[in-house]
Amino acid sequence: MEPIICQGCGVEVQSEDETVPGYVPASALNKEVVICKRCFRLKHYNEIHDVSYTDDDFLEMISQIRNAEGLILNIVDIFDFSGSIIPSLKRLTGHNPILLIGNKVDLLPKSTNLHKLKMWMKRSANELGLEVENVFLISSIKGSGMDRLISEVETYRNGKDVYVVGSTNVGKSTFINRLINQTTRVKDAITTSYFPGTTLGFIDIPLDEQTSLYDTPGVINRAQISHYVSEADLKVITPTKEVKPRVYQLNDKQTLYFGGLARIDFEKGDRCSFICYFSNGLPIHRTKLENADALYERQLGEVLHPPDETTKSMLPPLQAQSFKIKEKTDIVFPGLGWVTVPPGVTITAHSPKGVTVSIREALI
Ligand code: GDP
Repeated sequence: MEPIICQGCGVEVQSEDETVPGYVPASALNKEVVICKRCFRLKHYNEIHDVSYTDDDFLEMISQIRNAEGLILNIVDIFDFSGSIIPSLKRLTGHNPILLIGNKVDLLPKSTNLHKLKMWMKRSANELGLEVENVFLISSIKGSGMDRLISEVETYRNGKDVYVVGSTNVGKSTFINRLINQTTRVKDAITTSYFPGTTLGFIDIPLDEQTSLYDTPGVINRAQISHYVSEADLKVITPTKEVKPRVYQLNDKQTLYFGGLARIDFEKGDRCSFICYFSNGLPIHRTKLENADALYERQLGEVLHPPDETTKSMLPPLQAQSFKIKEKTDIVFPGLGWVTVPPGVTITAHSPKGVTVSIREALI
């Protein structure tokens, strides 16, 4: 049988799995014009819903951008920078310029130094081999930073198309929906006919007569902690409001547990404060370093929660990494939050294997 193609985006349609591209309910397959659920929602409700691809399929799709000309917007979650960045993006997209966009800025405490955050993002992206033209911080939900970004995109795109890429869960759909409403005000946002070779299978949202914004599927990034926790636990660890600093006065040889998902040991140094920035609902537990392992053995999922039972069955073992701190530093636990520690301390940070801890100059 001939494959059926979505008339909106050109993807091959299927009716097995709603979360992968091209989903059409079986009952709609016989219609004269078949459009996938994602295009349907965009057309009728002006709303994008993200679907995801596995890493290889995604990379393959994205590499088609190399043959096109346009501006690339790479959206990342600033609470999960290393889990949401796509280091190979530059290689995949060729000479096309990239803007790095940090989303969810509304979750940061007001006193955060945003300039330092942008510098850190740019440097970290560079270290991973991703060169970007500029970095912007936005909140897709609250709208902050959007006006400025939209006007900068106009300049950077220089009359060309725009491709929006991002890992799953970074807020790409929320971003595009806001963008559509703020800029195009088009009711019938997607093109209604598919021209092979022009859409690359991406959702096409016209910006003007000649150019479009393309939404690409979200890539599943294995370094995201969200892949190792249950839906219920994800709700606990994902901040929904501005995070409130929680301050612990610690002596050396003390440990803080963040639920049972991560841990920091104060190995050496004078009594001082450790300032913790995590979802306000994530329990933090203090204990003596000498008791920390035994507590984990006995109390994982109980006193040290999350993880719940589902998460426990998926979570990789904790892996330790030590740091000698010379200046005021943030110990960053990707997807969870960070701890600000003062100069002169030695710490060991533990995080699930594959979700690697990093350090940066303190943002606050
Ligand atoms: P996608 O998978 O990248 O398309 O992400 P979604 O747009 O579905 O968003 C993922 C989650 O992040 C949802 O729970 C959103 O409500 C949330 N989210 C998206 N943008 C923001 C933002 O600017 N601030 C906050 N706090 N949450 C956001």
